[in-house]
Amino acid sequence: MHAISILKEQLASPKRVAIVMHTKPDADAFGTSLALALFLRAQGHMVQVIAPTHYPNFLSWLPAADTVFVAENEDEETIMQHIEPIDVLFCVDFSTTSRAGTLAFLLQKTNVLKVIIDHHTEPEDFADILIWDIKAAASAQVAFELFKEWGGEEQITKDIATCLYVGILTDTNSFKNPNTTAQTHRIVAELIDRGVDTAGNQRLIYDNKTLNKLLFFSFAVSQRLVVLPEFHTAYFVIQKEDYKRYDLQNGDTEGLVDYALSLKGTLLGAVLKEKDDTIYLSLRSVGDVPANLIAKKYFQGGGHKNAAGGTSKFSLTETVDHFESIVRSGQFKFQYTNET
Ligand code: 5GP
Ligand code: MN
Repeated sequence: MHAISILKEQLASPKRVAIVMHTKPDADAFGTSLALALFLRAQGHMVQVIAPTHYPNFLSWLPAADTVFVAENEDEETIMQHIEPIDVLFCVDFSTTSRAGTLAFLLQKTNVLKVIIDHHTEPEDFADILIWDIKAAASAQVAFELFKEWGGEEQITKDIATCLYVGILTDTNSFKNPNTTAQTHRIVAELIDRGVDTAGNQRLIYDNKTLNKLLFFSFAVSQRLVVLPEFHTAYFVIQKEDYKRYDLQNGDTEGLVDYALSLKGTLLGAVLKEKDDTIYLSLRSVGDVPANLIAKKYFQGGGHKNAAGGTSKFSLTETVDHFESIVRSGQFKFQYTNET
């Protein structure tokens, strides 16, 4: 039977539902999870949304954001107290267990129906129902199509549409990435028909920086940017002390990587961030440069061809050296043409 028909059948009567998003949730993971929660609540289900780690502050205005349980630094028992008992577990914007971070243990539970809503490559085989489209620009796009088939357009309220819109807006990097298709624009047009205030939302997402964040970006560009013109690469190295100096909050480094890629001639942009005992990498690329392969092969990560991320347990200096040696090795395609 068709995945959506099975899902409809399983959720025909009110159920207890948990929605899990990936660690360090972005606007697609967060927005799609909220949209799903609103959609299911309207159908009479009891829903708890859980984030393994804090979500960025610039998303806290989204409808129902205040109902999300942030499980960062919580033990399994406390987490279970928040969500049990559950009948159905949704995994949103990820399909590999490790991406659930400290919530990965939930995916091992055998007595709940597990559903994935995602658009990443190579989903793992842990779910009962896979609602997945690798060609979709965002999980929000997958969710939109699901909601339409499941409940019809009129069930997509302005709040639901807003949550989906921010997911598509950010995962396409404001409709700049090649994952943006005619279908993406058609869906956005329908979301606008459902009442989304695109100009207002874009302002809340992109033009809502604290002065600290703006000063930090200025500092990062002037002091922390390394450019390798012959390899069409530019990257930021953010030290632990930079976080302190600018009192950076959740999500305050979001968007920095785009400045690396905005440099003329750059095909690979990166941010290497030192936080606690881990180095986090954000990678963005243009055209054929496979950010996801770099993240997967060398930094235990993954993602999409032009937007990926990973981590390193080595020191910041060692990780920077490693990153540079990968770029300099010439194994990835960094061919710059005027059209790129
Ligand atoms: P960001 O640079 O915004 O943190 O991540 C960009 C994209 O890369 C995310 O939307 C996600 O698809 C992917 N990604 C980021 N970090 C990781 C990671 O540690 N593991 C995997 N598998 N994917 C990641
Ligand atoms: Mn996504």
